[in-house]
Amino acid sequence: MKTLYYNGLVYTGTLPLVSAFITENGRFVFAGSDPEGFSFGCEKTVDLKDRFVCAGFNDSHMHLLNYGLSLASADLATHGKSLAELLEYLSVYAAGLPESPDPWIRGRGWNQDLFSDSKRMPDRQDLDRVSSNRPVVITRCCGHCLAVNSRALTLCGITADTPAPAGGRIGRRSDGEPDGLFYDEAMSLITSRLPVPDKERIKKLLRLACRALNRYGITSVQSDDYCVFPSVSWQTVNEAYRELEESGELSVRVCEQSNFSDLPALRAFTEAGCLTGSGSSRFRIGPLKLLSDGSLGARTAFLREPYADDPSSRGLAIFSQEQLDELIGFAHAQGLAIAVHAIGDAALDMVLNALEKAEKAYPRPDCRHGIVHCQITRPDQLERLKQLKLHIYAQTIFLDYDIHIVKARVGASRASSSYRWKTLMRDGLCVSNGSDCPVEYPDVLAGIQCAVTRSSLRGDAGPYLAEEAFSVQEALDSYTVCGARASFEEAVKGRIAPGYLADFTVLEKNPFETDPRRLKDIPVLATFLNGEAVYLRDSLH
Ligand SMILES: [Zn+2]
Repeated sequence: MKTLYYNGLVYTGTLPLVSAFITENGRFVFAGSDPEGFSFGCEKTVDLKDRFVCAGFNDSHMHLLNYGLSLASADLATHGKSLAELLEYLSVYAAGLPESPDPWIRGRGWNQDLFSDSKRMPDRQDLDRVSSNRPVVITRCCGHCLAVNSRALTLCGITADTPAPAGGRIGRRSDGEPDGLFYDEAMSLITSRLPVPDKERIKKLLRLACRALNRYGITSVQSDDYCVFPSVSWQTVNEAYRELEESGELSVRVCEQSNFSDLPALRAFTEAGCLTGSGSSRFRIGPLKLLSDGSLGARTAFLREPYADDPSSRGLAIFSQEQLDELIGFAHAQGLAIAVHAIGDAALDMVLNALEKAEKAYPRPDCRHGIVHCQITRPDQLERLKQLKLHIYAQTIFLDYDIHIVKARVGASRASSSYRWKTLMRDGLCVSNGSDCPVEYPDVLAGIQCAVTRSSLRGDAGPYLAEEAFSVQEALDSYTVCGARASFEEAVKGRIAPGYLADFTVLEKNPFETDPRRLKDIPVLATFLNGEAVYLRDSLH
């Protein structure tokens, strides 16, 4: 059945806006003027009443399964304005948990820099006040640090003698006892001991996350899911996705950023036929995803020079150069695309070295390797990124918090050449946008506002490097067509044009005509996937 949508403000992926489009069998078949649209004689017509429509949003780096898990945990981003509030909320949350064989109390999203009472991280003593007989684990907003109580330490067998694994750190008190904080690779000492969810539980978490994403206008994500539960195999995660696809419950298209940290596992994955682009338009295998360092907030991003606000630390490299060379060299030779998390400049050096070596050994056209985050950069690195024609997976919404800490963490000089996504765009690189959710809420309009204003959402900080601001069009493109390019799908999605998948988002207001400081307040009215509504705030009729 052909459906005509008319009387709208439709951004097709190019300006000027048009007013009408037609969908049929899950695809767009026309975009243009109302009179042209009516000339098709469609069976169904929808009056858009001057509302704004663009291609469905694509969050090009996030963690769908982890988002589902965070939706099923205490929300410490919203209830963590102070350490006292966090602990009080967590106690109330714990008391309200239903009876379950799983004793763990989980929370997610705290950020000590945003506490109004004390800027320190919560530790075991704090969490012992939440519960002394049930284990508590709460993950920092960045996902690179977690805190547990004493009961959890006992359950996981962590003592003063437990060594930290490579690429990780165990926080310690002055007497050598663990203080309850675990950084990067050391987090697995805790996470590997959590109850293993079965496939049904995974499907439940994925459903929860997909429905929430649709409310933000999101129709596609590129998601890193294999490392959320260390004891759940990638096969189980893929099966969960495929079963949801078959039952029609996967209301977001997923491109899996396949996270592996050792070569035998990656080899088995590729030998099973999992190569970039395999799968369907609903669930497909994306690039090999690697984490090369930690986060700026937790001071685990790997820097060449020490932290300005902690001269004893340069952060953490997760791999040695040899390990990175091996993983990246293998994946590149297998024809995979590669996307590497790099926040600190020293981590980025290592990744660029490995990519250059791989490219030299096996020249490949259009491999679309990319850097996820790409935050602390030096001018010489911007040049190398350009030479390698890398894709940039940016998160402009990070500016909301990072503006407050970047100068403190790295000093004014390094801050002045960092978060230079617009410069990279001008250099001809494709910059897609995302949230790294659950690090940030997957709030696309908030991300667009940060991209356009280079300021915090409340407007209390910034603009930070105002010349790096995106235009509204560039910001929309970063969430649509540029995201599609990252997954080699720019010929099928990210635009409203004949032949493209009929994924689109209806907004109450036109972002081109909105005060940049109000972009985040534009309501998402409806989200369509394959021509069908997956979210409707109100009826469009
Ligand atoms: Zn991430």
